[in-house]
Amino acid sequence: MFSMMQGQTVQELHFCQQGPLNAVIAIHNLTLGPALGGCRFIDYENEEQAITDALRLAKGMSYKAALARVPQGGGKAVIIKPKGSFDRQQLFKQFGQFIQSLSGRYITAMDSGTQVQDMDDIRSQTPFVSSSSNIGDPSPATAQGVVLGMITAVEFQLGQDMKGLTVAIQGLGHVGMALAKQLHKEGAKLIVCDVDEQKSLWAQQAFGATVVNVDDIYSQECEVFSPCGLGAVLNEKTISQLKCKVIAGCANNQLAQDDIGQMLHEQKILYVPDYVINSGGLIFASGRFRGLSAHQIGHEIYKLKDTLNKIFILSKNKKQASHQIANEMAEHILYGAESQNTNANMLEAV
Ligand code: NAD
Repeated sequence: MFSMMQGQTVQELHFCQQGPLNAVIAIHNLTLGPALGGCRFIDYENEEQAITDALRLAKGMSYKAALARVPQGGGKAVIIKPKGSFDRQQLFKQFGQFIQSLSGRYITAMDSGTQVQDMDDIRSQTPFVSSSSNIGDPSPATAQGVVLGMITAVEFQLGQDMKGLTVAIQGLGHVGMALAKQLHKEGAKLIVCDVDEQKSLWAQQAFGATVVNVDDIYSQECEVFSPCGLGAVLNEKTISQLKCKVIAGCANNQLAQDDIGQMLHEQKILYVPDYVINSGGLIFASGRFRGLSAHQIGHEIYKLKDTLNKIFILSKNKKQASHQIANEMAEHILYGAESQNTNANMLEAV
């Protein structure tokens, strides 16, 4: 267990077993503030898989918060979905008591398998929850950040705005559909796919999008490919099909392995690191929790442009993949002088 924590540099791991509730809270790092991250409520094959997920995701949240300049640490919760029948409201209330026992070291939010009602049930037991109905859906803020990040990347890579460019969007969920709407307004042409055909047809009618099969999205002629569905979609099989110049989407963990980022760099495709471009939702959740106004939150999201431009410049100057630059910058913010790299110092100088 300790070596698993060490592998992901996670500082704390908390467990709760109570009736049908089997929950894990991983706190990666508290240097920047209380840990904030979603709660997953999905099936796991075994306990080790659930713990590994919590550890990996908590680390990702620390990096995301660091580069978004959000005063939060990285944390994540996982509840192993019980087999058979159970009282869902009671389960999330018990989980709320578990969060309360950590006295604010961890603030939860919605993630795969959880919904607003669950957050409201948690909130009946603890104030340390950031996506209950009184706070609101973070997806529009995530989409706002993705549009901004995509425009920034296209300006950097192609020296132009979105008008007349083609964007292939994979997944038209809460974020993907909002992104399609905004890109249509910006004058971009859209190619879309979703496993739910109704969503694709809706985008076809509303935005004049071209609909393709889910397996055909990678090989489309386009300037931008935007993964907005699942993770790990950038792998050896898919990247050899890509014809785009930029990859900019909201999905978490888009790179199946680290070396895929390097391969994209060698293919001269500008990959916008996922946890930077999709951090609008975290900025929103943290901002609302801390009582920031909509205007202040919008201002914080706008700073993503600056951060991304710095990543792109360093990537170009150092001939290093963009995701590596982002990781090193986040590590420098989290670990300061202990960090071996100098990219964040270079960042200040850009
Ligand atoms: P969502 O569940 O609302 O939408 C995902 C969509 O992708 C669905 O319409 C689904 O049918 C589609 N999809 C799934 N697999 C697909 C495939 N193989 N091909 C095409 N379409 C597919 O989720 P969301 O909230 O829009 O989030 C999308 C991604 O962004 C997720 O990876 C999520 O973790 C990440 N993310 C979301 C937010 C947020 O604020 N919602 C913030 C950060 C990151």
